[in-house]
Amino acid sequence: MLNTSKSTALFEKAKTCFPGGVNSPVRAFKSVGGTPLFIEKGKGSHIWDADGNEYIDYCCSWGPLILGHANDTVLDDVNSVMRKGTSFGAPTQLENRLADLILSNNRYVQKLRFVSSGTEAVMSAIRLARGYTSRTKILKFEGCYHGHVDALLVKAGSGLVTFGNSSSAGVPDSIVAETITVPLNNTDAVEQAFVQYKDQIACVIIEPVPANNGLLLQGGTFLEFLRSICSQHGTLLIFDEVISGFRLGFTGAAGHYQIQPDIITYGKIIGGGFPVGAYGASAEIMSCISPEGQVYQAGTLSGNPVAMQAGISQLSACLQAGFYQDLEAKTNYLVEGIRKVNTFPLFKLFHLGSIFWLAFTEKDLISNAEDIDAQSMGFFRKLYHSLLENGVYLGPSGYEVGFMSAAHSYADLDRTIAAFEKSLRSLV
Ligand SMILES: *Cc1c(COP(=O)(O)O)cnc(C)c1O
Repeated sequence: MLNTSKSTALFEKAKTCFPGGVNSPVRAFKSVGGTPLFIEKGKGSHIWDADGNEYIDYCCSWGPLILGHANDTVLDDVNSVMRKGTSFGAPTQLENRLADLILSNNRYVQKLRFVSSGTEAVMSAIRLARGYTSRTKILKFEGCYHGHVDALLVKAGSGLVTFGNSSSAGVPDSIVAETITVPLNNTDAVEQAFVQYKDQIACVIIEPVPANNGLLLQGGTFLEFLRSICSQHGTLLIFDEVISGFRLGFTGAAGHYQIQPDIITYGKIIGGGFPVGAYGASAEIMSCISPEGQVYQAGTLSGNPVAMQAGISQLSACLQAGFYQDLEAKTNYLVEGIRKVNTFPLFKLFHLGSIFWLAFTEKDLISNAEDIDAQSMGFFRKLYHSLLENGVYLGPSGYEVGFMSAAHSYADLDRTIAAFEKSLRSLV
């Protein structure tokens, strides 16, 4: 058994400070049970908890750390910027540099605005879409997560096209009444919504690679369908690329599927481990944003120089030749290795680029939230704790995906496959 006495004591203390002992719910280990591990430090692909246990980490701070933990270049660069001051509330050259790095290597956006989180990026993108179209309704998909924006904390009601129910207390019905929810990968539902709410839909928002509720791969055809139906109806298509941006490739899912959305949101990787988000679009759409246009959006710490530098350092590494091919090759190697030891088989592995997901299912593809069997999470819980014992750390929920980083070595992958083999033997 792992010794987790220090984490346990820290969690007890944390519960007196924070609701549920955490500052973001999934960290509380509710869906896998047991005590959350308090992390002391990380280096490369490894993390150490407060009790000194070491793990190979596939959570990578939920995706941002594509170079792994405490990358030397990022740390050195950030350190030298930090010494000149940490925030000015005035423009700095670093904002130009990060924007230039992105815009000159990503033909899907012409102008950007930096914010401080993915949630903020999405919230601002929705406001922009409403301001640009002078419409109020938004359409989202069941099974996509877009941060804790009021209008998007909505789950489907019964029926194909619904004004769902709030999935959080504190979100007024009047706000939910502006959000239409439909199932993923279902063209009929989207068509029906456009008939029912003709000329009222400001935007369709989707995670083009839905990766917050399992990995619900959509494929290009459905995304192309969304592109064309939005264009026909004067509705803006928003790709929420907070996970997929700079992950599936430097140009994210837009580049992967070669689809031009109207607005793209970024977060996670863009900040090199610091709190950064961004939204971008054509110069014409972005001209609606204050102070150029009438859509207000601001931030005291937006474009923070320390965070900008972390983003510059990390994204520069992502632009090196072969960067994404290496990540994908390692992901394929890990997935194949785990498949070989998953002889029973207890679960399926779905993956795209450097994102992978373990699903306890017999289905060959899950592209819809409805197809996830909630009962199967009991198996995940057992496997999860066994993997911890064997030195492998995944995000603590069966609905979360895993991330490969540039810091993971083939030796790490072999150790991970061996850990799966051992864990599976103890479970079957
Ligand atoms: C993580 C995530 C968000 C929210 O970003 P935060 O930085 O946690 O606010 C929004 N959309 C998607 C697709 C995400 O993965």
